[in-house]
Amino acid sequence: MIYLDYAADSPAHEEVLKVFVEANQRYFANPNSLHALGREAKEKIDKATDNIAAMLGVKAQEIIYTSGATESNNLAIQGICMQHSKKGKHIITSYLEHSSVTGPISYLQSQGFEVDFVKITSNGQIDIQHLKSLIREDTILVSIAYVDSELGVVQNIREISEVLKNYKNCYFHVDATQAIGKIEVECTYIDLMTCTAHKIGGLHGIGLLIKKEPIYLRPIIQGGISTTEFRSGTPTTALILSLEKALKLSLHPSLEMQNKMQSFNTQLRTFFSTYDKVQINSTDKSVPHIINISLKSIKAQVMSERLQEKGIFISTKSACTVPNTPSRPVLALTNERKRALSTLRISMSRHTTEEEIQHFMKAFDTCYSE
Ligand code: PLP
Repeated sequence: MIYLDYAADSPAHEEVLKVFVEANQRYFANPNSLHALGREAKEKIDKATDNIAAMLGVKAQEIIYTSGATESNNLAIQGICMQHSKKGKHIITSYLEHSSVTGPISYLQSQGFEVDFVKITSNGQIDIQHLKSLIREDTILVSIAYVDSELGVVQNIREISEVLKNYKNCYFHVDATQAIGKIEVECTYIDLMTCTAHKIGGLHGIGLLIKKEPIYLRPIIQGGISTTEFRSGTPTTALILSLEKALKLSLHPSLEMQNKMQSFNTQLRTFFSTYDKVQINSTDKSVPHIINISLKSIKAQVMSERLQEKGIFISTKSACTVPNTPSRPVLALTNERKRALSTLRISMSRHTTEEEIQHFMKAFDTCYSE
């Protein structure tokens, strides 16, 4: 089996699993219980939160644990817009966003919020001039992915934040789900940032939202006490400890790993450029881990199925999008509907080997000829 769909999911790291199992056995008590076992679990969470905060360069109070990026995006977007709607009802986002960003934004639109989509330039980055022309005094939220899940384009977060800094009612939310572990992530210029564990060798069911102080947002899950007032539910001690471990192992990608990804990326780009019917969509601003291509007059789904028969697993689009619809990021980048309807995404990780890349290229060539 050759798995090249790491942007959709990654296998849990052995050490992460170990931490999770041990913590589940040892710190099973409710961290909000006042007895010694509860206090012990709470101390473990507090320590993990301090460590995560230090790793990300934020304060411990700025971390809200969630079930993953979908919840973090919903909490950030709905929480900010619902809380601050009196200051304005205008949102700016892009066509590169994951469905867990466009979903809550569409919902808010149905509730009377106005939404504008900022254009991207030919390299996939946000068109700063267009952003400047869209932003208004009543813009309360700009939500942009650090790295999008289909093209893998790295955004210039600092440049975007420069535009926003003169708009005191506007909060900047960044979905960093695909950025963490791939590039060095900088939280300084961001008001709210989304992360999830399962893309970085962590477990499903845990993520976080960084919400800088003193920003306030309205919770979307109400109930009992948790680690913060912004998200209720019994704190998940073992998952939180496993997230700490996953971040520790992946937050700063080594030079060796970066070089390896770059080398695979170059090999694949050179390889694809020899095929008439292959168009490379990822740009020179994309992370090397993701290569998005389109196939002219070949159905992407058919190619993906053929590859699967040979034990190779890749995606046609982001796993959470509606099948048989154009890829929004590719459509926004190329303005070609046909091209956006036939995309394939190859995504790699530290697990990917040279043999796998060679094997993939051979299999692709066979399927292409067929
Ligand atoms: N945001 C981006 C950019 C993603 O790629 C994904 C997952 O594909 C998500 C959010 C949703 O993540 P989760 O599965 O943790 O809810």
